Amino acid sequence: MSICLFGGTFDPIHTGHLIMAQGTLNEFDAIDKIVFIPSAKPPHKEIATCSSFQHRFTMTKKAIESNSNFSISKVENKRPGKSYSIDTIKFFRNNYKLNKDNLFFLIGEDSLVELDTWKAPQEIVSLATLLVIRRPNYQTEYKNPEYINKARFVDGVPLLDISSSLVRENISQGKSIKYLVPLTVEEYIKSYKLYQG
Ligand code: ATP
Repeated sequence: MSICLFGGTFDPIHTGHLIMAQGTLNEFDAIDKIVFIPSAKPPHKEIATCSSFQHRFTMTKKAIESNSNFSISKVENKRPGKSYSIDTIKFFRNNYKLNKDNLFFLIGEDSLVELDTWKAPQEIVSLATLLVIRRPNYQTEYKNPEYINKARFVDGVPLLDISSSLVRENISQGKSIKYLVPLTVEEYIKSYKLYQG
């Protein structure tokens, strides 16, 4: 079995995330499943301003439930302290007996640009195959281009300039978020009045 881990804050999950995950499955026949991993305590984001893990987890679950090749893991919420991707990669390698050939790790290019600021980036790229989706309108000036050669860019995936920030901004400005997120997520956000500023 080959799986691809897809970590994120998912605050909220949006259509860009879903298209990049499905696009990766389309491009790599070898990958059986994408595992969405909402970060419990994202090291690079201000946790105090994030929605709760429970909200982010539930929205992600709702967004992926119609796709049998997608699944979700709570693993980062079970660990104390900050949620480091390297610990998640090690968890999947050990628990599912995976190696670099059948364990993939999916990120957007903005994450690749800052990979050198993550915990143990060298180990990340040696324990999993790094897959990268280009991200329109993000600065791709690499201060440390060391990891570009270690990454496989996934071509053939529609690029979407959608971000969780855009979804949150639209809500706080009273604009619609229709099609930026799946309907079930839109309804969830409305029912809990999330992101209203
Ligand atoms: P925010 O706007 O709050 O920073 P985000 O849209 O970047 O959030 P995250 O949950 O932080 O969403 O992203 C998880 C991963 O998905 C990251 O590696 C990010 O680079 C990637 N990603 C998110 N949206 C896109 C997109 N539209 N195209 C390519 N990669 C994306």
